[in-house]
Amino acid sequence: KVRRVTRALLSVSDKTGLVEFAAALAARGIALVSTGGTRKALVDAGLTVADVSDVTGFPEMMDGRVKTLHPAVHGGLLAIRDNPEHQAAMLAHGISPIDLLVVNLYPFEATVAKGAAFDDCIENIDIGGPAMIRAAAKNHDDVAVVVEPADYAAVLADLEAHDGGTTLALRRRLAQKAYARTAAYDAAISNWLAGQLGETTPAFRALGGALAEPMRYGENPHQWAAFYRTPDVRPGVATARQLQGKQLSYNNINDTDAAFECVAEFDPARTAAVVIVKHANPCGVAEGATLLEAYEKALACDPVSAFGGIVALNRTLDAEAARKIVEIFTEVIIAPDATEEAIAIVAAKKNLRLLVTGGLPDPRAPGLALRTVAGGFLAQARDNAVVDDMSLKVVTQRAPTAEELADLKFAFRVAKHVKSNAIVYARNGATVGIGAGQMSRVDSSRIAAWKAAEAAKMAGLPESLAKGSVVASDAFFPFADGLLAAAEAGATAVIQPGGSMRDDEVIKAADEAGLAMVFTGHRHFRH
Ligand code: 5GP
Repeated sequence: KVRRVTRALLSVSDKTGLVEFAAALAARGIALVSTGGTRKALVDAGLTVADVSDVTGFPEMMDGRVKTLHPAVHGGLLAIRDNPEHQAAMLAHGISPIDLLVVNLYPFEATVAKGAAFDDCIENIDIGGPAMIRAAAKNHDDVAVVVEPADYAAVLADLEAHDGGTTLALRRRLAQKAYARTAAYDAAISNWLAGQLGETTPAFRALGGALAEPMRYGENPHQWAAFYRTPDVRPGVATARQLQGKQLSYNNINDTDAAFECVAEFDPARTAAVVIVKHANPCGVAEGATLLEAYEKALACDPVSAFGGIVALNRTLDAEAARKIVEIFTEVIIAPDATEEAIAIVAAKKNLRLLVTGGLPDPRAPGLALRTVAGGFLAQARDNAVVDDMSLKVVTQRAPTAEELADLKFAFRVAKHVKSNAIVYARNGATVGIGAGQMSRVDSSRIAAWKAAEAAKMAGLPESLAKGSVVASDAFFPFADGLLAAAEAGATAVIQPGGSMRDDEVIKAADEAGLAMVFTGHRHFRH
């Protein structure tokens, strides 16, 4: 069902692509109507545009609160074109049809995000815009509604392909998007108001969550999002003090949490430690005598991935570490504390967020981990198992040396924080190759070994960083192949939970390859 477009109403706050789009509509002979600011932009560009005030017979009033809220507009959007009574009503009241509605809303979310005053946020609640969007979307059998500039091209393509008309398929898709937008918009307003009242929204009240801040968007720009804080006061991203930098995004918070939880596995009284995270996986983890040394070792593991990463430290950020970290583009630094000098060094990078937590969370602390599934959610105890508490069992003829054992524990500590299937190569208290998130363990092994070889090439070293390393697996090797891949890459010792049906086969392969292997009896899946 193709609907010809004769008249379009445009009323937009975000004027991206507006002039080009409107000019293309005008070129098709489509009559244009606009509200004040939108009309001015179009008239300035040389287009002929009717004023919505002339359509309604009312001026825009009350600071723009009332512009388009009028039967001349809503009748034009809602009238069913094939319905004689609707047509008669239009005729009787002098209402002309609006076949295409182009609206994007007052920037409420952005106004809140920039920390505007209460009254300013209220004034940025769009009333007429959502009313028109919902009206046009309801009547999408006849009317096309566009709520974001990204869809201008699709509308023009449809008009071009269908002789100046839009198809029902496009109109229905646009209507669905329109309601998604108004729903997200009202959710943002409601959440913001709840936050102003110190309240939480019902879905989160059950979990004891309180709105920390509404966010600009979620994992992707089309997803609504908010950050909630639970009564849990463990040091971490939710309780941290942000000393500088832009607002944290949804992904920043998720990644920062992953980085800080991982670095908290390293007791600051024993060693300095640094974790660099990308996409919620560590791409470099290291211990050192100083934070600077640990950072340099962590960075060497995968300097390509570290670009734009999150850096977590287990001790007070000092000047020498800060100076090194700011050399490459970094999104977030999180540490228990920071010296005045370090703060001053980080201040040179305006956008870089610096968070201080006042301490480290206890990796052994109990806690709740949640995730949603369609129609429900899963709850489980936080993975608070720590390798130091596990009774390690040597299963090969050769026992690991003291150095190997230290690295094995280090690697297993890291593997806990890598998405499954996780394979971690380590040497001298630093990761040298990490394979994450693969659907087969042997693929993770190969990737980790390949990354160790790449890192060596980048550093101009003749041999793979995996040479003489140890390797950790978050779960048992189901076959000998993953283990043999590790031996081939140059690993001399292995740590894994054990418990496979083929443990005997795997142990035999380890013995034949001269590897030392220990079983932990604990698995660290992280899906
Ligand atoms: P303009 O920049 O054209 O003056 O205003 C465009 C904005 O006004 C759009 O974001 C649109 O959603 C909004 N808008 C249109 N009609 C009304 C109305 O009647 N009341 C309010 N509060 N906003 C409106």
